[in-house]
Amino acid sequence: MSVYQNASSCDIIKSMKTITLGSTGITTPQNAFGALPVQRVDMQTAVEILHRAYDGGMTFFDTARAYSDSEIKLGQAFGPFDGLRDHTYSRDKIFIATKSTATTPEKLIADLETSLRNLRTDYIDIYQLHCVKQCYRPGDGTGLYETLLEAKAQGKIRHIGITAHKIGIAEEIAESGLYETLQFPFSYLATERDVALVETCRKNNVGFIAMKGLSGGLLTNARACMAFMLQYPVLPIWGIQRLSELEQWLAFFDDPPAMTEELAAIIQKDRDELLGEFCRGCGYCMPCTVEITINQCARMSQMIRRAPSKDWLTPYWQEEMLKIEKCVNCGACLKRCPYELDIPNLLRKNLADYKEILSGKVKV
Ligand code: SF4
Ligand code: SF4
Repeated sequence: MSVYQNASSCDIIKSMKTITLGSTGITTPQNAFGALPVQRVDMQTAVEILHRAYDGGMTFFDTARAYSDSEIKLGQAFGPFDGLRDHTYSRDKIFIATKSTATTPEKLIADLETSLRNLRTDYIDIYQLHCVKQCYRPGDGTGLYETLLEAKAQGKIRHIGITAHKIGIAEEIAESGLYETLQFPFSYLATERDVALVETCRKNNVGFIAMKGLSGGLLTNARACMAFMLQYPVLPIWGIQRLSELEQWLAFFDDPPAMTEELAAIIQKDRDELLGEFCRGCGYCMPCTVEITINQCARMSQMIRRAPSKDWLTPYWQEEMLKIEKCVNCGACLKRCPYELDIPNLLRKNLADYKEILSGKVKV
């Protein structure tokens, strides 16, 4: 796949484009906030980051019931004015997407009510079924889609969306005509089939929300990641935990990166090194029966070569990596990995490589 598209037209990008998410009519800058990581910081820091994101130009915020207190932090940042901050935020200028992993109508209704309460709002712009294993349809016996329609009729949700990690299910969703948005992993490690999915969504007027634009932390060149995204009709939601990370994305509002030959070369090099069966660090496979930190240990070989290696060679990580020897091949993780990776083998390969690095036989 060529990652160096439309170079001549991209060369003249002057300011951040907006994107309209399919039939939702939601129009937002092509630079949005993924609120999973704010669950790892305290309330004050989270609110400060969220306010800065909005003040810096971001209007679209994606969260989930599954991200512990992320919704509560969004509610605290943008909910009704309560005198605890210096100004009020206009709800109609902020787009909030959240998600539920429910598989029954009862759980879905309960999750929706919790989300509304946490977010301190009376509607959610896009309500998404989270990491689905099937394309839920009206009349499929689960009642899920009917419940979404009912919530929409009641005005509690404005649009029905869905998130998936498996390409086959995502393709079915994109063709189904049932969902207004599809959230799917998309980065410059995308396959031709992933790129074709973007085109299917465009043709069918389904808004494409791109998650994992840094491929779970494997990709570290923000300009290259953004330049890649801007070539496609997708809305990237960047996972943000620190003000410094946020500032790097906000800087692109005034200086959106064009896909230059230099960035294309960086992308091509990373693709040559990383493509294939790789762990995205999503953590859906966990917890492991013997407490292996799978989402880091199964990609140690890549991380250690891409970040300062000493950070991964500490006594803490050595101990974590040695837990791989305790794997009992129970298969629990295999059932949960959306990318169908052979996790026990991947872990063993990473451990073998790690030991070679530790012993000095392999230099990184
Ligand atoms: S197969 Fe191994 S890595 Fe996977 S859950 Fe079981 S013990 Fe953990
Ligand atoms: S093994 Fe699969 S589920 Fe687990 S972190 Fe990696 S990609 Fe995610």
